[in-house]
Amino acid sequence: MMEKGSKNKNDFIPYGRQAIDNADIKAVVKVLRSDWLTQGPAVKQFEESLAKYCNAKYAVAVSNGTAALHLAYLAIGLKHGDEVITTPNTFVATSNMLVAVGAKPVFCDIRLDNHNIDENKIEELITPKTKAIVPVHFAGHPCEMDKISSIAKKHGLFVIEDACHALGASYKNKKIGSIGDMSIFSFHPVKSITTGEGGAILTNNYELYKKLAHLRTHGINKDKNGFNVMTDLGYNYRITDIQAALGISQLKKLDKFIKARQRVFDTYKKELANVKEIATPAIIKNVQSANHIFIIRTKESSKRNALANFLKQNGVGVNFHYPSVYSHPYYQQNGYRSLTLKNADTYHNTCITLPLYVTLKSGQIKYVCNKIKEFFKS
Ligand SMILES: *Cc1c(COP(=O)(O)O)cnc(C)c1O
Repeated sequence: MMEKGSKNKNDFIPYGRQAIDNADIKAVVKVLRSDWLTQGPAVKQFEESLAKYCNAKYAVAVSNGTAALHLAYLAIGLKHGDEVITTPNTFVATSNMLVAVGAKPVFCDIRLDNHNIDENKIEELITPKTKAIVPVHFAGHPCEMDKISSIAKKHGLFVIEDACHALGASYKNKKIGSIGDMSIFSFHPVKSITTGEGGAILTNNYELYKKLAHLRTHGINKDKNGFNVMTDLGYNYRITDIQAALGISQLKKLDKFIKARQRVFDTYKKELANVKEIATPAIIKNVQSANHIFIIRTKESSKRNALANFLKQNGVGVNFHYPSVYSHPYYQQNGYRSLTLKNADTYHNTCITLPLYVTLKSGQIKYVCNKIKEFFKS
């Protein structure tokens, strides 16, 4: 048994991990014994369950979140010369897939309270070339969707939400997945639910739904004589029934998972409330976060790396989410060398991701918090 506030030395705490139980294992084994490993009934059922959970009309399940982003960008016809406004505080896939379709990511500065795109700085970046806004619900915390939707409406832009952190979150009692033109999800093991690898696009728009499903499987349809005809350049971005079965089983536990994640979040907030040297995320009204990760920021940027190293030496799998996308060598070499965004740069130099997952024990959370306190005392 583990003592409260202590931890076995060799017992490394990762920043995120899955929660798999016997029901999940049974569901997967059932598919393995069936006739369909892919393109069978589980994918359809997973899509229906996802759409129902999120209050969206349609879901298209795919092989991963990056593929989901790629298909969403193709579905709105993004092409060379188009601009899309997004946040630099995200996993690179959000903007990489824009580059993949030839569009130009235009990075908007972020808010320092919830680390999301600053909705008040979007409009000044709009040009005649702008086609879409891609907000990312960072750490599972919903962006200001009322404001973003109204800007998009005024300027005739699509809203594609990168909701990879935010399955199970809601904004003003609307589930994330039901708001924008499309919402993108990932089921990587660190996300709200997992299928190993996996992703999905949710939409209320039938035309977009049809395009996404078409492009997921090579852009091939059957003609009226039953022949396969390829009408658009598509891909193989299908998910398997093995994965979908795991997804269906995991989704049943999502609300429980979100509650468990909220408890971890609340414990961190409480334990770290008196540590003056760091800032913790603001709690904003009218939203339920999916609590994907817990971010602290050191008030002095010079302390950040030392604190992160100290935690790592003590078996805590801290991480940095995220270096501003434009700071990566690829983006530096491809037109973003002169870009600086004040809040994003401040954030990127001071952030540390603490472990947050469903099975994290309160003793482990206290251990992490005690180590942070110990660092600042010495
Ligand atoms: C995980 C993630 C992705 C990519 O999802 P994969 O399933 O790993 O391809 C995209 N955007 C964000 C914000 C993510 O966290």
